[in-house]
Amino acid sequence: MTNRIDDQPTFVAHLECSETGKQYPADQLHGLSDAGKPLLVRYDLPALSLAIDRDVLRSRPQDIWRYREFLPVREKQSIVSLGESMTPLLPCLNLQDQTGGSAIYIKDEGRLPTGSFKARGLCLAVSMAKELGVKKIAMPTNGNAGAALAAYAARAGIECFVFCPDDTPQINIREIAAQNASVWCVNGYINDCGKIVGDGKAAMNWFDMSTLKEPYRIEGKKTMGLELAEQFNWELPDVIMYPTGGGTGLIGMWKAFAELEAIGWIGSKKPRMVAVQASGCAPIVKAFEEGAKHASPWANAHTVAAGIRVPAAVGDFLILQGVRESDGFAIAVDDDQILQARHEISCKEGVLMCPEGAATYAAYKQGLAEGLITKDESVILFNCATGLKYPLAPVENTLDYTKPIDYSSL
Ligand SMILES: *Cc1c(COP(=O)(O)O)cnc(C)c1O
Repeated sequence: MTNRIDDQPTFVAHLECSETGKQYPADQLHGLSDAGKPLLVRYDLPALSLAIDRDVLRSRPQDIWRYREFLPVREKQSIVSLGESMTPLLPCLNLQDQTGGSAIYIKDEGRLPTGSFKARGLCLAVSMAKELGVKKIAMPTNGNAGAALAAYAARAGIECFVFCPDDTPQINIREIAAQNASVWCVNGYINDCGKIVGDGKAAMNWFDMSTLKEPYRIEGKKTMGLELAEQFNWELPDVIMYPTGGGTGLIGMWKAFAELEAIGWIGSKKPRMVAVQASGCAPIVKAFEEGAKHASPWANAHTVAAGIRVPAAVGDFLILQGVRESDGFAIAVDDDQILQARHEISCKEGVLMCPEGAATYAAYKQGLAEGLITKDESVILFNCATGLKYPLAPVENTLDYTKPIDYSSL
């Protein structure tokens, strides 16, 4: 079962339906399982743990490929990389002072290629698509996923079709187009865009790279969990606040922690996973509060945080499972709170968050106030994309250099 990347074996055993457990062979192109659910990659973990020791990582380059044994790519030449560096963990002492919390860190994912953590997932998904011979890919997106797909597909020489809701930030749409994808604005939500992909894929010979409809984006997002474990020296913090749209990252990190625990690299103490949503689109929060296994689609979804405006997620039950198994919770915050949180973080910590990332701080404060999080719990806030990709408030100040300047009025 093992091939080699740089003299390191890979350990994929098979794929598995996340609902029924039915197994599927690796090394073949797959979408959803027969049951219409996401497929998860399963590894031969005993063999993996015999083959490497966690201390080996120290000598490897600081990028996601340092975790190659935990990743599905078989052949080194399949890797399509734009330099997926490890992202910094920023301790936020000023926010700690502000909230009275014990330890707050921002995991700044805005440093990744194409400016968002979608690069992690799409790097793996496009590498696997290349390995398995895909020639055309299509995807619905709220912006960042399409941008990452376009970039990796361009590099891989794979043709790419992207469908966005028509109120997706212009910068994202232009970024996608600039990277050689064929991009279309659709007068609906991401789920309506997804239907266009689903209905057209047979005729167009597209591979459908919608969130969780192929098995490998989760594996890319899983590297966030591996990286956090390593950055915290294998003693994870108490709480992870994650802005949740399709949920790939939350599901991926929870999978990472399970794999690390299975091979004994971390102990049984794992972080509480908190799914953060916007109150204008909070299907997971509603399902969590109702004790439901699945979420019902959210009507009239709206929020400034476009990346988490996902009215229905195929992996809803996996998100809810991760949240519940970890003793976490799901929480919604208003757009006003999100924008206020973004302002506070940029003024106090010098980190320009994306609205989705800012939502995690708003949710943290609300969680503290409601007693869902205690002040002695250490917490990670996820900044999923660089704030530079989002509209910012205009600046009206002007000066006429030819006239005397009243310095005291500046
Ligand atoms: C995609 C996206 C999210 C949501 O991530 P999921 O793992 O799909 O839930 C959050 N924030 C930003 C900026 C995104 O692009």
